[in-house]
Order: sequence, then C-alpha cells, then structure tokens
Amino acid sequence: MTNYYDHKECMPAEERESRKTLQITDMITAGYHKSSRIRKMFENLQLDYSEVSTLVDYERLPIISREKLIELEMSEPPYGGLNNAEAEIDRIFISPGPVYEPHLSENDHLWARAYHAAGIGKGDVVLNAFSYHMVAAGLTFHGGLRRVGATVIPSGTSSSQLQVQLIRDLEVTAYTGTPSFLLAIINKAEEMGYNFKKDFRVRRACFAAEPLAPSLRERFEQEYTIDTYQMYGATEVGDVSFECREKKGWHICEEVLVEIVDPATGKKAPSGALGEVVVTRFNTIFFLFRFGTGDLSRIIESPCPCGRTSYRLDGIAGRVGDAVKVRGLFIAPSQLNKIREKFDNVKFQILVTRTSHEDILTVRLETKETSINTVSLEDDFRKFFKDACTVKIDRMEFLNPGTLKEDDRLIVDQREWK
Ligand SMILES: [Zn+2]
Repeated sequence: MTNYYDHKECMPAEERESRKTLQITDMITAGYHKSSRIRKMFENLQLDYSEVSTLVDYERLPIISREKLIELEMSEPPYGGLNNAEAEIDRIFISPGPVYEPHLSENDHLWARAYHAAGIGKGDVVLNAFSYHMVAAGLTFHGGLRRVGATVIPSGTSSSQLQVQLIRDLEVTAYTGTPSFLLAIINKAEEMGYNFKKDFRVRRACFAAEPLAPSLRERFEQEYTIDTYQMYGATEVGDVSFECREKKGWHICEEVLVEIVDPATGKKAPSGALGEVVVTRFNTIFFLFRFGTGDLSRIIESPCPCGRTSYRLDGIAGRVGDAVKVRGLFIAPSQLNKIREKFDNVKFQILVTRTSHEDILTVRLETKETSINTVSLEDDFRKFFKDACTVKIDRMEFLNPGTLKEDDRLIVDQREWK
C-alpha cells in the first residue's frame, strides 16, 4: 500500500491554498446561478459575487450554524433553497432537526482518505457499526471503505452479541464506529467466554462521532493490540479531517475548506488560537457555505512527519458555548484539563475579571506539597499555560492548602459588562 491516498495530500501548502480559493470561487459562481437562496444572500449583503476572489473576501459571507440551517430549510422546504434544482441527487439523508441533505455519491471520496491513512485497504474485512438508518453515517463510511478496497459488513447498530458473532464468523480485521460501542462489543465477547485479543483478528479501529478518551485509546492499543485512529466530520459537510499514523493532530481533507474563526466576528482567529471550526465542502449540488460546527479547535501549520502537507486540526477542545473568551481568545475546559494532568501536584482555578475595559486573567493556585519551589513552579506553569491556551496569565496567587475544594469550578468568570 502506498503512503498517500493521492498526490494531492503532498502538494505544497501554497498550491493547496490557491486551489481551494479557486474551488470556493467556482462554488460561489455556481451557487449564485443555481440557488435562489445564495442569490438572495448576495443581494442582502449588497455584494457582487464576483468580488469574492480571496479567502479574506470569503469571510464576508455569514456563518450558517446547524440551527440556522434548520430555520432555512423550514422556511423553504426541503433544502432551504441552498440546492442546485437541476442537479441529480441519488440519496437524501435525514438528521435530527430535521435537516435534509441531498447527496450525490458517485464522485465523492468521503472518509476514504481517513481509512487509507489508517492502513485499511484490500484484504480487510471491516465491521461498520455506524447507523445506516436515515442518517449519512452508515452509507458514507461504507462508501469510504469500498473506495479503499475493503470488504464491509453493514452491521450498523445491531446488538453487541450479533457483532461478536460477525467478528468471529467473518474474521473481521477492523472496526469502524464509536469507541464506546467497540468497548461494549469487547465486554460482550469476554462475557461470552472469548479472549478478544487471542480469539479474534480485529487489529484496527477507526472512530468518529464521539471523543476518544486517552485512557480508552491506551486500553484498546495495549490490552487488545488494536491500532486506533480518530476521524472527524459533521453530517452536514461530510468528512473534515483524519489522523495519520503519527497521531498528532488531524489532517484536513482536500475536499473541504476549514476556517478557524472567532464566532463573534466571523473572521479568522489569530494564528494558533482556538476558534470555531467552520467548514465548506466543495459541492455542486448543495451550496452550504461556511457551516459553523460549534466545535472549538486550532490549526497546526507545522509539517507532519508522515509527509502529508495539509494543515492539521489539534483535536476538538470542546464546544463554543462551553468556553470562556479572554482578550478575544477562547479557553476551553479541555485545555485546562491538560494543564491539570501536567501539574498533578497542584490545584488551581482561573479567575477572569475586568479592569478599565481590559480582561485580567488570574490563576489561583495551591500546592499539595509544602516543600515545592514556588518560583520555578510559577515559571513552568505560566509557560505551559501560554502554550496550551495561547492566553497569557496576568497574575498568579498562591493560596493556603485547603482553600480550593474539589467541586470548585475550574474557571470563574466575574466580568460585568456595563
Ligand atoms: Zn500526518
């Protein structure tokens, strides 16, 4: 098997940017001519569609959240006028809302890059435990597995007992689905008297739709020798990014444009900072520009040792609504948890206040051991905090042991907006 799905994965970053810009402008031109809603949108913005020629111009278009998409579809059923009325559609997916998504499968490569990067291909027999019922998951993951040459068992959401039977009878080599369901299948197999590692051949797993906890990943890999990979996408836009064998960030797919934006302004977040993941899938039948996922992430621009030149998403730090914004930068609970893991000998709490129209970030910290060198601890903490959260600490307060309680909130926002 070759290392890359196709040559596009290794193109120079500048070439990718100009290619994606061209794809966006082509999609805008097509959308303007084929979709009533897009034409109306440009009229409302008082913007000539041909004036959008760079990715900076593109930021002038509004972000469409899932809620907004539902609203649009309800006002103009079934697709909110975002579709190309002349286009052929081979299937219509339905997701809760309801959201109707017209789809043409013939030319898509959905999830194929992810499976290829995970080393799945010809000779693999893959259990696809994503639902095939109405939603896009089952069929699109199935399509990706077929693209890379694997044989697929469309087991969907069948019972864990039946999944164990299929794994045994059909000599399944890989699993795709959620991590929690794989764990349930393993537990069921053990309950049925099998030794999952010795009796079965499952050696790879590709997960989506649910976060993969590091402890669970370690368990799959160490205890059951299953090589695990994370994939990320959204039902409205398909596959967005995937892990390569380095497992340090998720490569952005060639078929989408990903922006990391400040949801308040719709403009690009500062380089390396957290922001909302906004996705546009290059598409000729459904003109969904700038879909706001509500997920928080940041971009890794540095080259990946695997050789792919695409930028990577640094996992998902949480949902926009759960994060607190300090001096325009998001701090998500998951980032603070990373700090907590690193400094397991301290307890801390973040306090955000506001003085003279400026945000002040204070860290209140107490050590579990009294002998600790607070000067070097403060230095280390400040540095790690800045790396993890991008935001600089303004003040650090050392508290007496026992001041912070277990159930105290990790981040307290005391700003008043008057
Ligand atoms: Zn890589």
